Amino acid sequence: MDMAFVEVCLRMLLVFVLSWTIFHVNNRKKKKATKLADLATEERKEGGPDVIIVGAGVGGSALAYALAKDGRRVHVIERDMREPVRMMGEFMQPGGRLMLSKLGLQDCLEEIDAQKSTGIRLFKDGKETVACFPVDTNFPYEPSGRFFHNGRFVQRLRQKASSLPNVRLEEGTVRSLIEEKGVVKGVTYKNSSGEETTSFAPLTVVCDGCHSNLRRSLNDNNAEVTAYEIGYISRNCRLEQPDKLHLIMAKPSFAMLYQVSSTDVRCNFELLSKNLPSVSNGEMTSFVRNSIAPQVPLKLRKTFLKGLDEGSHIKITQAKRMPATLSRKKGVIVLGDAFNMRHPVIASGMMVLLSDILILSRLLKPLGNLGDENKVSEVMKSFYALRKPMSATVNTLGNSFWQVLIASTDEAKEAMRQGCFDYLSSGGFRTSGLMALIGGMNPRPLSLFYHLFVISLSSIGQLLSPFPTPLRVWHSLRLLDLSLKMLVPHLKAEGIGQMLSPTNAAAYRKSYMAATVV
Ligand SMILES: Cc1cc2nc3c(=O)[nH]c(=O)nc-3n(C[C@H](O)[C@H](O)[C@H](O)COP(=O)(O)OP(=O)(O)OC[C@H]3O[C@@H](n4cnc5c(N)ncnc54)[C@H](O)[C@@H]3O)c2cc1C
Repeated sequence: MDMAFVEVCLRMLLVFVLSWTIFHVNNRKKKKATKLADLATEERKEGGPDVIIVGAGVGGSALAYALAKDGRRVHVIERDMREPVRMMGEFMQPGGRLMLSKLGLQDCLEEIDAQKSTGIRLFKDGKETVACFPVDTNFPYEPSGRFFHNGRFVQRLRQKASSLPNVRLEEGTVRSLIEEKGVVKGVTYKNSSGEETTSFAPLTVVCDGCHSNLRRSLNDNNAEVTAYEIGYISRNCRLEQPDKLHLIMAKPSFAMLYQVSSTDVRCNFELLSKNLPSVSNGEMTSFVRNSIAPQVPLKLRKTFLKGLDEGSHIKITQAKRMPATLSRKKGVIVLGDAFNMRHPVIASGMMVLLSDILILSRLLKPLGNLGDENKVSEVMKSFYALRKPMSATVNTLGNSFWQVLIASTDEAKEAMRQGCFDYLSSGGFRTSGLMALIGGMNPRPLSLFYHLFVISLSSIGQLLSPFPTPLRVWHSLRLLDLSLKMLVPHLKAEGIGQMLSPTNAAAYRKSYMAATVV
């Protein structure tokens, strides 16, 4: 046979096989898409949910309640309904309590043995000071925060959400988002019986926390691990001032004690390197005893060591930061730690999240159909701008405050650290202004800049005293440079324009910080 003929035949066969494969793969995709679309339509006909929420932590539960109150049918899928045991979200700032009350969820802080907090007790190099949340601001709520076991609070939120007839709270692990032409239509999940199943809704909200797997396909932001928080509980003890968060400016970073229930004190400290002493072979316990405990003031040391002596479980949690970006895909919204994180030292994650939920639920309320992708996109743009006064102020403050707290041998950096302690000790409007910012009682970026600027200036003043020498002037210039280097990346990440927009600030204050409480 002619070789050329054989070659032509083989080529034709190859083309045929390729075309057949492509045709069948496309056909299968089309069938799958039609099947998903049919399932989605069927689910809608049967009165399926308007919204799916992935995760019933602080955010998912609060959002489910807010949306269901507005008449939406909500399907919440949570992988573990047991009370979470963790070392995060244990302090609610006064601003967070205001948001909670505006959402009608203030009673979730009751019956969990939550403890009142009126401010911070700060320790540095043998000195101490107390800084309280101010009472004479325009803040329309009781100016105190609450300490509590986070898991108890989460359980209360879940109970409250599922008490509404239009909320279906189901145990299940969401595996993936179901998409059609770049629009999210629902989720696949494994239910509590271990079956793989699906749920469809016009809108899906991803609220699966700081370890979110789902967010990766939705936005480009990367979470950066900044430090490691190590903590345990000292049981059956009470701090001398249980209404204060005890913050110790230590080396390499800070240590904290606070009363999470009438009998339990949370003890924790921060390490910066990922090479942590091992918990399992006891290295961590020895490290705490030998390196951290000696820096804890004597009057607190017994309480600090009690948990260790009694073999309390030591937990390690990563502190992360991640700027917020909107989802690239339609039909889906990302919220909570999956959306935005800041260093936890000023304990504000829940406050920002509750503020986000309040803004978002109010913006979504007038929409008849949550499946209207263009309208939801418009809502998301407004949401992104409106959240800035609270989120950008708190994020910038949290990240900068943390950087200042890190101990250093650099004289300029150390002067800034001391300047921060002196500022909070100074009393009057400086202390009350900074505490109003920390407490989320006055979320104004301009006020934040003012305080950061004055802290830097007074630190420079200290550096130059008693009289300026060339070396002191040099350190002062470096301090100024350090402050800018600390601040500018955070401002860039937040978007200076939106952060400083007077329209956003005014709209936020008027709509979300006003006196009316739901
Ligand atoms: C060390 C540390 C301390 C902190 N301390 C404070 C503080 O004192 N005050 C404060 O306001 N903020 C604090 N924060 C931040 C705060 O804890 C968070 O901002 C807040 O908990 C975020 O809530 P969330 O709903 O986004 O996530 P979470 O509350 O973590 O909830 C996520 C939920 O999603 C579920 N889930 C995850 N994946 C899936 C899945 N695939 N399918 C179904 N369900 C899923 C999880 O089980 C969980 O219930 C701290 C953070 C850290 C790291």
